Amino acid sequence: MPADPVTPPPTPDLWTIETLLGWTQHFFSEKGLTTARLDAELLLAHALRLSRLELYLQKDRPLDEAERAPFRQLVRQRASGWPTAYLLGEQEFWSLPLEVSPAVLIPRPDTETLVEQAVVRIRKWQAAHPQSRCRIAELGTGSGAIPLALASELQNLDLISAEVSPDAQALAERNRARHADLAAPRNNTLTFLCGDALTQLPAQGPFHFWVANPPYIPRDTIPTLQPEVALHEPTLALDGGADGLDLYRRLLSETPACLAPEGEMLLEIGSDQQPALTELAATHPKWQSPAFYQDLAGHPRVAHFLLKGP
Ligand code: GLN
Repeated sequence: MPADPVTPPPTPDLWTIETLLGWTQHFFSEKGLTTARLDAELLLAHALRLSRLELYLQKDRPLDEAERAPFRQLVRQRASGWPTAYLLGEQEFWSLPLEVSPAVLIPRPDTETLVEQAVVRIRKWQAAHPQSRCRIAELGTGSGAIPLALASELQNLDLISAEVSPDAQALAERNRARHADLAAPRNNTLTFLCGDALTQLPAQGPFHFWVANPPYIPRDTIPTLQPEVALHEPTLALDGGADGLDLYRRLLSETPACLAPEGEMLLEIGSDQQPALTELAATHPKWQSPAFYQDLAGHPRVAHFLLKGP
């Protein structure tokens, strides 16, 4: 909805949807938020239980105090650094609306690169094994974004994911139930377990693929991230140990035992981690040297590992 960002705040007895959005956009911009207009629209639409289109169509509607009070609370929280997705309780990933809460990392567009590459590799595997179901393990379910996105693109998958946070696992279960049309009707199964993936999942193998967006931020770097991330997103989903590579070490050494011959692993990485991952892979002789794929910003974002042949 177009609006002049420097519109002065109107007098309080004239609050309409339009004037309230103008005021909030101005307030958010002053606070340094880069998506001031979008955030104002998303939060007001949420508070009034309207779509953004309905906000526009009803822009001259006056809002009484009872309607403005819940919005004011959301505006305060957003201005103090809460991510919009947590205030809305929802984030879209791969065109799927997903419940999110501070128990899970907010799914990011970067991670769509991992899904894209996984879809390409899994399709290729399926073309070579037309009679078989494809078995995929995931470390760190979070909101369930990655398995649900894969299930929305592909059929005949058995996806098993594990998550150490019980709150995150319960939330992922709700997203799974919400998107039940991606499972049985598409001949997919999705299983979300609570616990350490590398302890729980090997017994369910062998798998054809492992996928993960593991925590990969070096521990000391976390406080330097944007406050939205550092203060509000779960440390468990970010903290990759002293050098950020703890989970990659575990995955590279522990997954070969539960992968089928020629098994593959696709992992999201931090934009500066390609050299470290290349070096790390060289110390794990069961893996060929990895290929890397870039995200939309042109950063290396996905590492693709293939087991060496016999
Ligand atoms: N991409 C996230 C961030 O930089 C980190 C996700 C992760 O550690 N897996 O905020």
